[in-house]
Amino acid sequence: MHTNTRILANKFEYFAPKSLAEALNLLEQYQEKNIKVLAGGTDLLVKMKTVDLNVDYLMYLKDIAELNFINTSNGLSIGATIPFSHIVKEDRIKTEYTALYEAIQAIAAPAIRNMGTIAGNIGNASPAADTVPALVAFDAQVLIENKQSKRTVLLKDIFLGPGKTLLRPDELITRIEVPQVKPNTGSAFIKKSRVKADLAKINLAVAVQRNGQNCEDCKIVFGSVAATVVRAENTEKLLKGKALTEELISQAAQGVADEIKPIDDIRSTAEYRIAMSREMLRDALNLAWARTYSEAKPNLKGGGE
Ligand SMILES: Cc1cc2nc3c(=O)[nH]c(=O)nc-3n(C[C@H](O)[C@H](O)[C@H](O)COP(=O)(O)OP(=O)(O)OC[C@H]3O[C@@H](n4cnc5c(N)ncnc54)[C@H](O)[C@@H]3O)c2cc1C
Repeated sequence: MHTNTRILANKFEYFAPKSLAEALNLLEQYQEKNIKVLAGGTDLLVKMKTVDLNVDYLMYLKDIAELNFINTSNGLSIGATIPFSHIVKEDRIKTEYTALYEAIQAIAAPAIRNMGTIAGNIGNASPAADTVPALVAFDAQVLIENKQSKRTVLLKDIFLGPGKTLLRPDELITRIEVPQVKPNTGSAFIKKSRVKADLAKINLAVAVQRNGQNCEDCKIVFGSVAATVVRAENTEKLLKGKALTEELISQAAQGVADEIKPIDDIRSTAEYRIAMSREMLRDALNLAWARTYSEAKPNLKGGGE
């Protein structure tokens, strides 16, 4: 039972380091003392207002200037504290990483997008997180640091279950790296939720690379259909190297419905999710395909040669 006290119900000590080195020192020092990091707070503060999340030490990240950046010159490099609303202002997010742009715009309302961060979306590890399928479709990696070392992990491998990641208590996500999008690639993100400002019943990101009439490569990534994000790898294989005909798209739609194994929960039923996965795959694939050439040449509208 999650009783919402509407106040921060427990006492805690608060740190606001000004540098990454200071933050990593604090994490090392307090790693066994129930420390939590705070970015935008749009997940964490909600949980701290329920009586079941106790935090003894809270470390605020947004005073660390070196984590507040985005660089789009060679792929994407996104700092841990830059808010969603700043990320979508970058032209290349919309034109080249369209599924990520659409995923961010699908998150709640401007107030949440002004505070929330991608690192927080990952750290919260909700199976319904909107940026995660899009980032996995673009092969994103996460840079994780502690005082002694750094490691880079593929985003899809970071999740162990709902609310669980492989991060150790002394580690921080410092950056999200996304490779350069290949030429003639289009992408799309689709989300189904009860109302706009709600978490997904099911969401989907598709990225397709086109070679003439053939699908050279593709990624199909669903959220909210399992404990962690799911890549429909069998369906990706079915599409690769083939002409994208209506018949193949129908086979792919059936393929994803067979591949995902959703459950019934408070937001939706397994039956609804399976039925929607077929239609969403059709729509996202067609949309991403139509964008393959327009994204390579931003002045063009729609697809076709
Ligand atoms: C009204 C409302 C609507 C919402 N709608 C959506 C939605 O439509 N789609 C969606 O995906 N989400 C939604 N959310 C959830 C939330 O906004 C996102 O998950 C957001 O990305 C969290 O980012 P944050 O910076 O606020 O994270 P915080 O709340 O600060 O942190 C979240 C978790 O990540 C950890 N964390 C944060 N930064 C780091 C880091 N650098 N390294 C390691 N761990 C870290 C924290 O310790 C915490 O466990 C909604 C939330 C609210 C309140």
